[in-house]
Amino acid sequence: MKIDNLTLQRIKEAANVVDVIGDFYELKKKGQDYQCLCPFHNDRHLGSFVVSPRRNSYTCFACGAHGDAIEFLMRHERLTFFEAVAWLGKKYGIDVEGGERFTPKPARPRKAADKLPMLTLDFSMVKARLDTRGDRLCDWIRSLPWNDEQRARIEKVLRGYGVGHARKGEGYTIFWQIDDLGKVRTGKFMLYRPDGHRDKDTPYNFTWAHSMLEKAGKIDMSKADLHTTLFGMHLLNFHPTAAVNIVESEKTALLASIMWGHPEKWIWMASGGLSMLNASKLKPIIDQGRQVYIYPDRDGVTAWKQQAMVIGYKRLTVDTRYLDGYWRDKDGQKADIGDIIVNSLSEPRTKSTQVSAMPTPVYKSKIELAAVALTDLCKRNPWVEVLKNKFNLEPVSIEQCNKPKSSK
Ligand SMILES: [Zn+2]
Repeated sequence: MKIDNLTLQRIKEAANVVDVIGDFYELKKKGQDYQCLCPFHNDRHLGSFVVSPRRNSYTCFACGAHGDAIEFLMRHERLTFFEAVAWLGKKYGIDVEGGERFTPKPARPRKAADKLPMLTLDFSMVKARLDTRGDRLCDWIRSLPWNDEQRARIEKVLRGYGVGHARKGEGYTIFWQIDDLGKVRTGKFMLYRPDGHRDKDTPYNFTWAHSMLEKAGKIDMSKADLHTTLFGMHLLNFHPTAAVNIVESEKTALLASIMWGHPEKWIWMASGGLSMLNASKLKPIIDQGRQVYIYPDRDGVTAWKQQAMVIGYKRLTVDTRYLDGYWRDKDGQKADIGDIIVNSLSEPRTKSTQVSAMPTPVYKSKIELAAVALTDLCKRNPWVEVLKNKFNLEPVSIEQCNKPKSSK
């Protein structure tokens, strides 16, 4: 079946993405754009799926779904290109030759999400792509003027996070999202320039492992739910008492890990986007009762402070001291802790750029926290002090309490 160019152009001009998606979902206006829960992944919070009337397209910042009205219909209604165009022809009263043979199903509101199994990818995909020699982002990281101690950490950090490189095609840097149980949820494929910045000029500079697998017909996304996780989540297992520091960008998590080391004290994780921080993503961390520090980008301070309130986890702190102390106007509004690290490495060590002197939050081990709690208790109740001295009480962590006592 063929559609003449003129008809196709008329339909494309008529097809308003807000109208079309609005036939299926209730859209909420937010600024110039509209939002609803993403129909293409297991979405629970507004924010990731954005419909833009200005660009006449939709984008999901969580699962990467993106396109115009035709692509939406193809994917959502499982139509061919011709069927989607005919659907729009009917909606806008534009005759499509042969279109009368196609009766579009009426738009139906979203049915309650069926519970589908969580999508997990085969670990062999990760293993086959761990060689990051020649990867533009990794090579740029290697080229920074680190000191010896930091330099010695580079390969360990890249390996530890499971950073990958796609040798075929565009040469993507891959940030695998591996969860706390070691399951590969998906992978983010991003193109970087040799100067360490995102290459946003090349088409297809960003994609997801699951999108590529779906396109290749290797997985069926209608049979599994995508749950993204924080980049670095799997590291929880290796450092059972570490605090968790969360930033927006994967690159920044890597830079900070190389800069400051000591993953046994703090693990850097990346949310992968401003709107990607929520309670369900943090669940494994909260369940383990870890300290959490979040480090927003300059332009994300308000959003993440609000989000922290929504999450409502007692041991979560939004830390903006480095921004207050080291941010300069020329860094721009997008600046984050990664930019501050790079500046401090590349510029003469003046006082204002010396990040090593940055006011790091006081990271306390569980034992230290127990000691603080005990001192606090002694202050409030003098009898505790008496007991403490009489029985020679020492603070212990929960893990130690649960361990069988060694016989003396
Ligand atoms: Zn989505």
